[in-house]
Amino acid sequence: MNAQLLRGQKALVTGANSGIGKATAIALGRAGADVVVNYVVGPDEAEKVVEQIKAFGVRSYAHEADVSNEGQVVEMVARMVKELGTIDIMVANAGLQRDSSLVDMTLAQWQKVIDVNLTGQFLCAREAAKEFMRRGIVPEVSRAAGKIICMSSVHQIVPWTGHVNYASSKGGVGMMMQTLAQELAPHHIRVNAIGPGAIRTPINRDAWETPEAEAELLKLIPYQRVGDPEDIADAVVAMASDLMDYVVGATLYVDGGMTLFPGFATGG
Ligand code: NAD
Repeated sequence: MNAQLLRGQKALVTGANSGIGKATAIALGRAGADVVVNYVVGPDEAEKVVEQIKAFGVRSYAHEADVSNEGQVVEMVARMVKELGTIDIMVANAGLQRDSSLVDMTLAQWQKVIDVNLTGQFLCAREAAKEFMRRGIVPEVSRAAGKIICMSSVHQIVPWTGHVNYASSKGGVGMMMQTLAQELAPHHIRVNAIGPGAIRTPINRDAWETPEAEAELLKLIPYQRVGDPEDIADAVVAMASDLMDYVVGATLYVDGGMTLFPGFATGG
């Protein structure tokens, strides 16, 4: 990806010490942005990501915050504005699963996933939007006054038995993203989502760890490979850049065709 694409921009990535967030933070740094690496557990991993980003000659630091905690999100963005001057790109990526069939799912399992995956993105978007509106457009930096990228999932539109909390959170992210896109577009703020398919990260290790599991998974992927975190990271860089300046309120599925109803390739 072009090393100059995001030169001079300041990005924050939540859940950036693992998987997709980690690859995204590194790719944003490679594209020339200064990057805040948010994490909630695992400070050593976060510091390693910071070191990789700094090697591109940009600024970076790690910041511990729970995205579902309002005070911690407010403080995280306030510190970024103080230390880096502002924020141009918010990547609301942090997410988790607490899987269970409906009848066995506890309220705590439901609530935790909604709190992190949906409320966390709301809080991050709100705090970023306040700063985008305060600062406005800086033409030398970007055509937009700010970019919010919500990490969604194919489960924004694909139902998922045994994961009603997760699928509901991502369905909610889709409508939140579109509503915020409509509300913030007049302020020249672009809000969009990336919908990953099956990406090789710790969140779904069971689905790709053994050859048998991977073969099962490939039945759902027309393009016939499991995705890598870098597939998503590159899509985020493109979405954050002015190459996508007229893209507002879109979900870009980066899924090897998973949302093409692959079962219909041989039947239906
Ligand atoms: P991951 O488990 O590797 O990373 C998730 C990150 O979020 C971790 O760094 C974790 O510590 C962090 N996190 C969890 N709770 C947090 C909190 N309260 N505050 C701050 N950070 C928190 O998994 P991943 O696959 O990289 O997932 C990243 C995002 O991509 C998630 O939103 C996930 O739903 C989405 N996604 C992943 C896949 C996939 O196949 N891996 C597919 C679709 C969507």
